[in-house]
Amino acid sequence: MRSVDDHVAAAVALVSTLPATELPLAEALGLVLAEPVTARVDSPPFDNSAMDGFAVLMADVDGATADTPVTLRVAGESVAGSESTPTVTPGTAVRIMTGAPLPSGADLVVPVEATSASFQMFEPVDADGAAVRIFSAPAGRTHIRRRGTDVVEGQVVMEAGVLLGPSQLAAAASVGAARLRVIPRPVVAILATGDELVAPGQALRAGQIYDSNSVVLAASVRRAGGTPLVLTRVGDTAQALHDALESVEADLIVTSGGVSAGVYDVVKGALAQRGVEFVQVAMQPGKPQGLGSVGSTPIACLPGNPVSSLVSFEVIVAPMLRVLRGLPPHRPRESVTVALGWTTPLARQQYMPVRFLADGTVVPATVGGSGSHLVASLALAEALAVVPAEVDAVAERDTVELIRFSG
Ligand code: AMP
Ligand code: MG
Repeated sequence: MRSVDDHVAAAVALVSTLPATELPLAEALGLVLAEPVTARVDSPPFDNSAMDGFAVLMADVDGATADTPVTLRVAGESVAGSESTPTVTPGTAVRIMTGAPLPSGADLVVPVEATSASFQMFEPVDADGAAVRIFSAPAGRTHIRRRGTDVVEGQVVMEAGVLLGPSQLAAAASVGAARLRVIPRPVVAILATGDELVAPGQALRAGQIYDSNSVVLAASVRRAGGTPLVLTRVGDTAQALHDALESVEADLIVTSGGVSAGVYDVVKGALAQRGVEFVQVAMQPGKPQGLGSVGSTPIACLPGNPVSSLVSFEVIVAPMLRVLRGLPPHRPRESVTVALGWTTPLARQQYMPVRFLADGTVVPATVGGSGSHLVASLALAEALAVVPAEVDAVAERDTVELIRFSG
């Protein structure tokens, strides 16, 4: 039997990072940056106020107190978006709002709370002789955000390889980047096989079951940062399989079912002839696996049992998707404490669907054990506990490694 590590390494070796493309910022969420982002402008682009208040000269208000206020003449105002502002000269102040350009001359903003003013919505500045009393000079801070104190023009804001979340997109937008070079979402074709399968929603006839793998695999692809292309499921004939794969345009193909030792396990029968390798992997669930290429498209053939299919996706396909997306193959694992033990098979690495309790410990998500057909029990699964091949039982208070579902 092939070890899980060897099999995942073989899977990852079948794929490489997709060529970069350029996309508008709004479409880049969840993608990997392919080229550094450099600031097109200084950020902030101009000196501005961090407070609502009055721009003044430090020398004018030094030593002001509530008992000995300093009175200044209000020479105008600066609001966010102002193109030009009055100048602050000795003995004057300019009313200023947060984010508004700092008037020339000013070297300090006194917050409105430290003055005799109280700002009313849309109250105009009284330009003729209005005065403001300053009750204190802010100690140690000027409340001025200086131009370029975040980044300066030409500075690298983000390196290639960064995964773009909302914060990264904010950083790109703030320095004027409207489009980014990114690795696109891989397109993953999904093909469920089995004569017994019908779509949810139809009535089941004798011997039939609902196709859950098409849904699960498509959802898993989406959650793992790919675009699913769900093919029409096929029955257990080689011709139907070949026809379905004939003109698929995808970066990766994932099939479910038909890979074990049965007489009608047609995926194995038909694709082994085309060079796809079918092996036994030392994992539970998910022992029978296929891996290779059809034409130039890499393919992973997963077992049909729904729990096996889901686990196989997370363990084998998710690392392939990460490589296609420009990420390192393995996502970080965490350690957690088990609140309720279970038995596990020797000589096979077990992936147990688990759920979290309120205290952060985990218990098996499946009520009846680890049977790979217990698909409805997956409803509670939040992660997979990884139990090494040499372990035969997990006990309460043991520590296990956990992989979160990708995404
Ligand atoms: P197979 O790998 O084709 O031998 O299938 C193993 C088990 O998984 C059988 O009980 C199948 O009925 C079931 N199965 C196969 N494909 C699916 C699917 N797409 N959805 C739900 N169950 C499936
Ligand atoms: Mg089958």
